Amino acid sequence: MAVPDAAFHAGAFGTWLADTQRAIRDGLDALVPCGDCTACCTSSQFVHIAPDETDALARIPAQLLFPAPGFPPGHVLMGYDERGHCPMFADGRCSVYEHRPRTCRTYDCRVFAATDVVPEQPSIAARVKRWRFSFASEADTAAHARVLQAAADGDTGARNATERAVRAVVSAVDHGRGREKPPYA
Ligand code: SF4
Ligand code: SF4
Repeated sequence: MAVPDAAFHAGAFGTWLADTQRAIRDGLDALVPCGDCTACCTSSQFVHIAPDETDALARIPAQLLFPAPGFPPGHVLMGYDERGHCPMFADGRCSVYEHRPRTCRTYDCRVFAATDVVPEQPSIAARVKRWRFSFASEADTAAHARVLQAAADGDTGARNATERAVRAVVSAVDHGRGREKPPYA
């Protein structure tokens, strides 16, 4: 009989939701207890880097970057190698961790666990299945229901699963307090 993968504690839902809302609004780093998971860096993802990210741009070789389609001049993407690994991923970790792009700093795969949106990348989806939130109050449970409903309602403007999940989290957090425009809109 197959042994199920161990679960990981995603945190108290209400606390996570409030912290995530603040992080999205203020552009703060996401504090994700990734452990030894490196799915973000090894799942054939393009990493967007904005022109104001001078620290990251100074450390990533220019030949690894190309103009980001649909963005103004100066916005670039970093691709991945034949294994689907980010070119800055070396010896099992990020070689520019302290200077990594904003895309990497702000990513939190728990938005998928909170919304039941399935990410496109199988290795990230596998990790997402293992997250478990705790619910300390009826308010937390109600907030989760709003997040799930927002995701189920769908967002035809979302370009991918990540954006759909993030928009659901933002719209549900703002429920009853007036909606704010999502920061990436
Ligand atoms: S998939 Fe989730 S747990 Fe894994 S590295 Fe990315 S953010 Fe961390
Ligand atoms: S820059 Fe670093 S954190 Fe970002 S995808 Fe590449 S290896 Fe991962």
